[in-house]
Amino acid sequence: MKRILFLVPKVAGPAGGGKWNSQWTHTLNEIVQSSIWKVITPGVLTLAALCDPDKYLIDLIDEEFGEVDQTMEYDIVAIYTVTPNVKRAYMWAAHFRLTRAHVVLGGVHASMCPDEASRFADTLFVGEAEITWPEFLLDYERGTVKATYVQALGQVDIQSSPIPAFNLLPSNGKRIIPIQTARGCPHGCRFCNLRSLYGRSYRAKSLNQVYAELEAARKINPRATIYFTDDNLFCDKQRSTKLFEIMERLKMNWYAHSDISFGEDERFIAHAFRSGCRQVLIGLESLNRGSLEELDEHNFKANYVDKYKMMVENIQRGGIGVIGSFIVGLDGDDAGIFERISNFIEDVGLLGASVTVNTPYPGTLNYEQLHAENRIRTYDWNSYTIFEAVIEPATMNYRQLNEGYIRLLNMIYDQHNIMNRRSKQFERMKAAFLRALNTQTGSHGSQSNSNEVYHEKVQDLVSIRIQRQDDSEL
Ligand code: SF4
Repeated sequence: MKRILFLVPKVAGPAGGGKWNSQWTHTLNEIVQSSIWKVITPGVLTLAALCDPDKYLIDLIDEEFGEVDQTMEYDIVAIYTVTPNVKRAYMWAAHFRLTRAHVVLGGVHASMCPDEASRFADTLFVGEAEITWPEFLLDYERGTVKATYVQALGQVDIQSSPIPAFNLLPSNGKRIIPIQTARGCPHGCRFCNLRSLYGRSYRAKSLNQVYAELEAARKINPRATIYFTDDNLFCDKQRSTKLFEIMERLKMNWYAHSDISFGEDERFIAHAFRSGCRQVLIGLESLNRGSLEELDEHNFKANYVDKYKMMVENIQRGGIGVIGSFIVGLDGDDAGIFERISNFIEDVGLLGASVTVNTPYPGTLNYEQLHAENRIRTYDWNSYTIFEAVIEPATMNYRQLNEGYIRLLNMIYDQHNIMNRRSKQFERMKAAFLRALNTQTGSHGSQSNSNEVYHEKVQDLVSIRIQRQDDSEL
């Protein structure tokens, strides 16, 4: 039997006790750290499922959930890279090469910077790996392994992807289970490297396949929250409606990423809520039309910005909390942007906000532009945490960007403000439960039946509230 380690290194900030942003206080760093959704990278679970269990013993270590045992020796060590973890990935690559393991590097950063990454690997994977990984294993067994395996863009048929190896989830990584139902997004934002990784197409798994994955996840933890990692879960509304029906049968709570158009249709929102949707993360990016213009291919976000408030309110009124994702330091931003975002968050009672700094990741149009304009201050990937400014902003100076950003984060993470926003959302969720009950019992539901269901749902709410209190993602 050969031993394989799948390793997801920690990202730079928290690795070694460091901060996400060198200028933050320890307290701010801790609060932001605890607010980040902690989920195992689904890609490594899929690759692990492609290994023949009669030939390979598999270990999976995601450093967010456990430590690497440095005394262990492996035949193959496959390391997943993103830009902010890549220097640590190179460190582990060097360590395991000394133990004579065959070191494989793959993932987003390795795919975007193959010349750099290949210096640290015995084998480099570029692009999606569902086809190339089994090829590599076959070559490894025959002794004909190659230095590089390249997957052409958009050619992987994800309807052939296996059920991820959820059995490898660490015991502390089973509360939120990631499931990817599709790859791709129609918007093509300047700061996003999806197009460079997946191509332009939208590729979806069959719903039978998704159902099988959900069943497998439920066997691992029947009370798990499902985190749909699709970049935009509601791209295809008809398919989403069928997915809601599946989730209604499974009775599992779930989170997802969406674009703001989710807020357009109240019946669709109500159905999502009844099926267990409790939070959506939406890339609002900016409140400044000038910053949003040309941010995505079709000016989708700029065209929606005037409706942001109404859309978010629709979703939250439907019982689903919105985590708004914003980017500061975009070219249209002046120093007033921080206050505008802060006012918006309070005004709509946004459940949560994830505010990051405009960061030019390799493989994005943003990187090409800022690099050409000589506005990138550092190419030290450890600084690319998305919480640290690594560029020269266009319409304010670097100090204004940093100071305004810190001020905004202190407002968002103020305990009183957090509790206030959570309480508002709790009330909205309670009202949505009652509406859902009325829909279900209708005029045919007897009073006693209705009371029973209501009682059950209130228990559900209470347990959700308790769960939320030590939730890392709020
Ligand atoms: S909407 Fe999100 S996933 Fe789609 S291109 Fe923009 S950033 Fe990427």
